[in-house]
Amino acid sequence: LSSRASTVLSSLGISTTDELSGVYDGEWRGSGEIFKSVCPTTGETLARVKSATPQELHDALGRTREAYTIFRNVPAPRRGEILRQIREALAAKRNELGALVSLEMGKIRTEGVGEVQEFIDICDYAVGLSRMMNGNMVASERPGHSILEVPNPLGVVAVLSAFNFPVAVYGWNLALSFAAGNATIWKPSPTTPLCSIAVTNIVARVLENNGIPGAVAGLVTGGKDAGEAIVESRGVEMVSFTGSERVGRIVGKNVMSRFGKSILELGGNNASIVMPDADLSLAVPSVFFGAVGTAGQRCTSTRRLYLHRDIAPQFLDRLKKLYAAVKPADPLAENTLLGPLHSKGAVKTFTDAVEHLKSIDAEIVTGGSIYNEAHLNGGNFVQPTISIPKSADPTDYIWKTETFAPILNAAVFDDLEQAIEWNNAVPQGLSSSLWTRDMRNLGKWIGPSGSDTGIVNVNVGTSGAEIGAAFGGNKGTGWGRESGGDAWKQYVRWSSCTINFSDNAPLAQGVNFPA
Ligand code: NAD
Repeated sequence: LSSRASTVLSSLGISTTDELSGVYDGEWRGSGEIFKSVCPTTGETLARVKSATPQELHDALGRTREAYTIFRNVPAPRRGEILRQIREALAAKRNELGALVSLEMGKIRTEGVGEVQEFIDICDYAVGLSRMMNGNMVASERPGHSILEVPNPLGVVAVLSAFNFPVAVYGWNLALSFAAGNATIWKPSPTTPLCSIAVTNIVARVLENNGIPGAVAGLVTGGKDAGEAIVESRGVEMVSFTGSERVGRIVGKNVMSRFGKSILELGGNNASIVMPDADLSLAVPSVFFGAVGTAGQRCTSTRRLYLHRDIAPQFLDRLKKLYAAVKPADPLAENTLLGPLHSKGAVKTFTDAVEHLKSIDAEIVTGGSIYNEAHLNGGNFVQPTISIPKSADPTDYIWKTETFAPILNAAVFDDLEQAIEWNNAVPQGLSSSLWTRDMRNLGKWIGPSGSDTGIVNVNVGTSGAEIGAAFGGNKGTGWGRESGGDAWKQYVRWSSCTINFSDNAPLAQGVNFPA
């Protein structure tokens, strides 16, 4: 193992001399298929992880349910206090965990640390929430009656997560689910097992110190088969799935076929629209970060750029200069802004998309190739790319498809209505951003005839959401909402309880039904 990798792993107590156990349900186990964690920067194998056998998965689900029956009776503010301790334990390892995200996923170090910070922030939020997950008292139409709406814990919540946020997505779900009194079982991406093992280690230690069964926050590493088994299990009340539209469509149908609950956070295809009155000194660097940050591997990455005709040449010139200055390097190194793609498969997706762009005579304004420099050998580095397809027709393949790589397609528009129509015409509906200083544009953009995405920004790029507001997308992005806002309400089962304190038993709506 390279010294850069062993420094990161040993700072979290991960020993890679042996195969690692990838299952936790109160105890560490795992004797199933071996999954390799491969570093996207160097191509070296970081560790070999023993995933769950079908029997181990079955047993882990059973232990999670047992743990739930204990945990649901722990008072919510006490659950909040344990979350506060989880928050502290994460904060103590913020930099180490951030570096592990960078090592295993490939995003730059500040973004890796930022992801851990999101987990810490949502813990803070959920600590407060643990004292505020209030129900309602509803006015009854009948004398001497009261109606209560009571939030109770839901049961077992499974979190199936994607490779690109190997820590934060679990954090968003764990914190709310935990505060609500559920037990959670996590099936992370098969290519980021080390992040999930390190996080689970930290959480498990806190649970142990508080006498809470470890299976309240269980882990089963594995691939598609493990995901399918969890989705089909009737012992899982809710599946919170983050991943591609393709897999989300299968997961959504399968959960629905057994009338389970699901939260779907699927692919995005996010547009930035730049009006002629926009402050370009803000817009240009923000579009740059949106398109190139995380090497284009955020669900909220900017993939479509709609420029008003009056500013289009100037905007592209300025953007090109930023693209020319960015240099690929080890994401763990200070000052690196561009890391690798996560996998060889992602590099193929990138080169296929560029080939397709060339085949439809799109202009490749910058980029379009993979990096072949010697010091990058072994890594999945590709050039951030801007293209101008001949047609801006949003039903064309290139406009309507999420390509999970740093490719930004640009088009020129003449009026805002046209740009909004293009923005809304794709199947996905995650994030969008408008750059303008005109109040009238703003009003149109956020209103009924405006953007139809779940995240609708003004003078803020498409990526980089905070935890305080609900996060999620509409349409093909799955309509899921996580993190802040009312998202917590999905992690409970609501009971509407009508209570009669009177000596009579009148029927509702004045119905008369004599005894
Ligand atoms: P993916 O769909 O390939 O995998 C996601 C998860 O599903 C993994 O844990 C995988 O093992 C599991 N899985 C695969 N097949 C399954 C099946 N048949 N049943 C159950 N589980 C199964 O996604 P990915 O490549 O890891 O992640 C990238 C995608 O995730 C992009 O499309 C991105 O936009 C999306 N994403 C969305 C959000 C959001 O909040 N909307 C956030 C992050 C990533």
